[in-house]
Amino acid sequence: MGSKRVQQEFFFADAPPWEIEDQADVLVAEVAFPSGPPGLLSYRVPDPLRDSLRTGMRVRVPLGASHRLRWGFCVRLGQPEHLPSTLKDVQQVMDEERLVSPEILRLTEWMSEYYLCRWGQVLQAVVPAGVRGQAGTRSITYLSLASDDAENNAKKAPPTQDAVLRYLTTHGVPVPLAQVRRDLGCSDGPIRALRKKGLVTTEIRRSSAEDISETPVKKVTPPLDLNEDQRQALEAIHAALHAAEHQTILVHGVTGSGKTEVYMRAIAEVISFGRQAILLVPEISLTPQTVERFRHRFGRVAVLHSHLSDTERHAQWRSIASGAVSVVIGARSAVFAPTKHLGMIVLDEEHESSFKQNTAPRYHARDVAVERARAANVPLILGSATPSLESWHAAKKSRYRLVSLPRRVLDRPLPAVRVVDLRLEQERRGHGGVISRYLHQAALDVLRRGEQVILLLNRRGFATHIQCPSCGEVVSCPNCDIALTHHRAGEIALCHYCEHAEPAPKICPNCRSPGIRYRGLGTQRVEMEVKARFPDYTCFRMDTDSMRGPGSHERALAKFRQGDYHILLGTQMIAKGLDFPQVTLVGVVNADTALHLPDFRAGERTFQLVTQVAGRTGRGDKGGHVIVQTYSPDHPAIAAAAAHDYLSFAEHELPLREEYGYPPYGHVARAVAKGPQEESARSFAEALGELLRKGVDDSGAAVRILGPAPAPLARLRGDYRFHLQLHAEDVGHLQTVLCSAIDQLTPPKDVQWMVDIDPVDLL
Ligand code: ADP
Ligand code: ZN
Ligand code: ZN
Repeated sequence: MGSKRVQQEFFFADAPPWEIEDQADVLVAEVAFPSGPPGLLSYRVPDPLRDSLRTGMRVRVPLGASHRLRWGFCVRLGQPEHLPSTLKDVQQVMDEERLVSPEILRLTEWMSEYYLCRWGQVLQAVVPAGVRGQAGTRSITYLSLASDDAENNAKKAPPTQDAVLRYLTTHGVPVPLAQVRRDLGCSDGPIRALRKKGLVTTEIRRSSAEDISETPVKKVTPPLDLNEDQRQALEAIHAALHAAEHQTILVHGVTGSGKTEVYMRAIAEVISFGRQAILLVPEISLTPQTVERFRHRFGRVAVLHSHLSDTERHAQWRSIASGAVSVVIGARSAVFAPTKHLGMIVLDEEHESSFKQNTAPRYHARDVAVERARAANVPLILGSATPSLESWHAAKKSRYRLVSLPRRVLDRPLPAVRVVDLRLEQERRGHGGVISRYLHQAALDVLRRGEQVILLLNRRGFATHIQCPSCGEVVSCPNCDIALTHHRAGEIALCHYCEHAEPAPKICPNCRSPGIRYRGLGTQRVEMEVKARFPDYTCFRMDTDSMRGPGSHERALAKFRQGDYHILLGTQMIAKGLDFPQVTLVGVVNADTALHLPDFRAGERTFQLVTQVAGRTGRGDKGGHVIVQTYSPDHPAIAAAAAHDYLSFAEHELPLREEYGYPPYGHVARAVAKGPQEESARSFAEALGELLRKGVDDSGAAVRILGPAPAPLARLRGDYRFHLQLHAEDVGHLQTVLCSAIDQLTPPKDVQWMVDIDPVDLL
C-alpha cells in the first residue's frame, strides 16, 4: 500500500490543486469513455478506493439501466457543489499508477476540443497498449531458504528436494522460481513439498520493464565548433531557454546547414539544468544513423518508434517518466512522451505531412507540440529547409521567432540544378526511355569517376495504368475508383489503396482487343531502363514493394553508404534527411507526379520534395549537382526548387492561399461520409450539409461550406465517399458548427462519417 503511493509520487510529483483532498465526504470521479457515451459521466468513489484512485487511471463503472460494467479514464476527481442524487459507484480501479500525468491529461482535453474527438478516445490513442497492459512487468515468484541451517535441512529431504535446497544454499539470495525449475529440471512438486515443510519461503516481486532497456554508450563524441549562423541560431534558443518562457522558434536552414548540430547543443543546455528534451522526427528519418548520432553525444537516449514491442515501449515510457533518460527521440506520437521535467521540444522536418495522424484522433504533432510547449512554458524549436507555409507565415507575423541558416556548413555550395524540359526531349526523341540524354550522360560521368547517383521517382510499380487503345478502358480496382498499377513481380495489377491484386490482363477485359497498353511510369520500369543503360553498374530500387520487412530500409541504405550499389533509385523514402558524401548526382526522373493532384498543397509538396532530394547531393567535398526532369519547367514550385529559392516560392504561393482563404490564412475542416451504398452515403452527406448550413445561419459563424460532392477518391475499399469542405478564418467557428452537427446527427447503419480539422489529406 505504502509502496504503491511512493511509486505514484515517483512518477508524477505535482498534484494539481483540485486533487488535494479536503474533508468533504463525497468524492466524485468524472470518467471519459473510449467508446459508448460521448460525454463525461460522474461516479461516486467509494471509501475503499479513495486512496488508490488518481486522475489518469482507468476505472470500471456501471453504465445505463443494465448497470453493465465498462471501463473508462478517470479524468477529474473532486467534490462538486451539487451532487446528483443518483450517483453510481466506481467499481474498480484498474491501474496502480497513473497512465498519464495531469499535464498530458490537460493536453488530451485540448485535443478532444480542438479535433472534435471524444476525450476517452484521445486518451486511448495517447497511452500505448504496452503501457496500459503494463507489458513486461510481471509478478515473479522468488524462492529462498527458510533457515540457514542447510546441512540439517538436506538430511531430512528426498533427493530432488535436497537438490533444490542445495541450489538455494549456493545462491544465497532469493532466486526466481522459474529459474530453479529450469536449472534443476524439476517440477513444482518438490518445491511445494518443501514449502509445506516450511523449509523454503516464497515471495512475490514485481519485475520492472526497465531491466531490458539498452546500456548507455560510453564513448561520447564532443560537439563541433559552430559556425556563425549556427551560433546565432543557438543563441536565440538559449535566450528562450533562459527566459524560462514559451516561444516557438522556426529554424529555416538549407539542407546540410548543420541544424542537427544546433539541436544537439540546445538539448545539452536543457540537460545541464536537469530537464528533459523531446526530439520529434518523421518516422522515416528515425534511422539507426540518427539515433546513434544522439547516443554518441548524450550516452543514453530513449527511442519511441513504431517497431517497438509492447514491452520495449513500456520500458522506454517508464525510463522517461522516472526522469532516468534526458533525451527522447521519436516519431509523431512521441509528442506525448511522459517526461517528468520537460525543458524543450524540437520538431525537425516540421513541414512533413507524416506528423499528421490519419486516423482518429486526427491530430497534427506540430500543433500538439505548440500546445504542449505553451502549457509547459518551454521553447519549441521547429526546423526545416522547406518550412510549411503555416509556420513560415507565423514567423512573418512574429508569432514565431525566425532564425535562418542560409548556407551549408564548411562553405559547401548548394548543388547546381539543371531543369530538363521533357516536352522538348520527347519531341526530339519520339519515344524511348524516360531518362533524358542529358541525365544519361551526367550519370555516366559520375559513375565513371566512382561516385554515386540517386534517382527519384515518386511512383511505385511498373506501369501506373493499363489502358486499351481501342475502347479507352482503364483497368481499375473493383473496390476503389483507382487505376490499377502493373507490378512485374508476379505479373499482377495492384491497387495501391486497398492492395487488391489480379493477374495483369493480356487483352482488354472490356472489348477483348489484344492491343492493351501499359502506360505511365513507375519505379520498376525505371529500374529496368537503368539496368539496360548502365550495365556495368549496380542499381538498387527502394520503394514500399522492395522494402517490406522491418529494418530493410536501414539495411539497404547502409549498403548504399558503403558503396555496395552505384545507383539508388526510389520513391520519396530516399528523399529525406540522408547524408551520403559519395552522392554527386541526383536525378528527379519526373518532378510532376504530385503537381496536378486536387489538393491546395500540391505545389508546396512538389517544391518540398524536389528541394529535399536535391539536398541529398554535394554533402561531401566532391560537390554535386541535380537534374530535374519535368513537363512543367515554368511551374513556380519547380522553378523555385531549382533555384533553391524558398522565399520566392513562399511569395508566389502565399497570395494564392490568401485569395481562397486556405491555410495559413484560414482553417479548413473536412467531413467525409462513406458507405457501401452510394445513395445512403450521398443522402447522409446531403443531410449533413443542410444541418451545417443551418448551423452557420443560426450561429452567424463566418464559415463557408463547399459540397457535398463526391470525394476525389470517390470510391475506396468498396465504399462510396462524399465530402464537404468547411472554411473559416477562425477555427473556433468551424468547431462550433461541426460540434453541433456531431451532437445532432446519427448516420444510418451503413454510413460512417468522420471530421478532420486542419486536414492534410484532401483526397
Ligand atoms: P542539417 O540537419 O541542417 O541537414 P546536419 O546537422 O546534419 O545538417 O549537418 C550536416 C553535416 O555537417 C553533418 O555531417 C555534420 O556533422 C556537419 N556539421 C554540422 N555543423 C558543423 C560545423 N559547425 N562544422 C563542421 N561540420 C559540421
Ligand atoms: Zn478495349
Ligand atoms: Zn482498391
